[in-house]
Amino acid sequence: MTKFFDLHCHSSLSDGTSSPTELVDLAIEAGLSGLSITDHDVIDGFVYAEEYAKEQKIKLLPGVEISCHYQNRESVHILGYAFNPKDLNFIEFCTLHQARRVKRAKEMLQRLTALGYPVTVEEVFLKDAPTKTIGRPHIAQALIARGYCSSIQEAFQKFLGSKAPCYVAGERWSVQEAIDMIHKAGGLAVLAHPHLLRKESLIRQLLAFPFDGIEVYYARFSESECRRWLDIANSKKWYVTGGSDFHGGVKPESRLGQSAISEEYFTPIYEHYLRLQK
Ligand code: AMP
Ligand code: ZN
Ligand code: FE
Ligand code: FE
Repeated sequence: MTKFFDLHCHSSLSDGTSSPTELVDLAIEAGLSGLSITDHDVIDGFVYAEEYAKEQKIKLLPGVEISCHYQNRESVHILGYAFNPKDLNFIEFCTLHQARRVKRAKEMLQRLTALGYPVTVEEVFLKDAPTKTIGRPHIAQALIARGYCSSIQEAFQKFLGSKAPCYVAGERWSVQEAIDMIHKAGGLAVLAHPHLLRKESLIRQLLAFPFDGIEVYYARFSESECRRWLDIANSKKWYVTGGSDFHGGVKPESRLGQSAISEEYFTPIYEHYLRLQK
């Protein structure tokens, strides 16, 4: 029987709606043999779920998705895998970015207030969930709770999308800084969802960075749409990764395991992690 592994999902530590251990349960329900929790700018999901995943006999790989800027303008996401999840420099790197995200969220709230849609800091930040990374989906949920919009999509369209009036990019790591940090923590740096990068010149420039892998299989993209990225991975001898980008209720259109990789691609990545532990 072919085994499948979903290496891209978000927990309630960032903008997903399931806890790290709930993600393990959902992965088992979906028939997966392993997963990686790739929260935005926080690496703690692995530590929260490690013991439980072991008990449930499902493989869990340390993961993260770092929000970067390229040339101070383009938004680029970089996945990190198979790093030391207790690396203090990496934890500090994430903590600093979480603080930048708080500052950015407050700036977006100021813009919303100026536009006549006040939302308080408490409505966005004081939740029961152990959220460490505040993102636009949290603000979107507060806008819905206030009755200003009826869906997350509408909140992005009217207020929060990158071309909408209340968007703030915020300060971020550069692509090179993120790759260097992942490498220093012993991990593999992977270019996330190249399918979503619209500009050919940007793709060309990003492919020249010292990545170890590329996210070939992503969300609802078809086999033929992934072919280009598989060819690039083969020609560069990069690791092939893939996953659903599951976020739970805030992005109901994708389910865990919807996109996944087989053992042929997962095993070399997992072996990298096992070697790191020796
Ligand atoms: P942030 O990291 O704060 O910039 O927020 C980015 C996150 O917002 C993404 O990872 C998605 O989960 C979500 N997102 C981005 N664009 C949209 C959209 N148009 N509709 C719904 N969710 C979106
Ligand atoms: Zn997200
Ligand atoms: Fe992403
Ligand atoms: Fe993601």
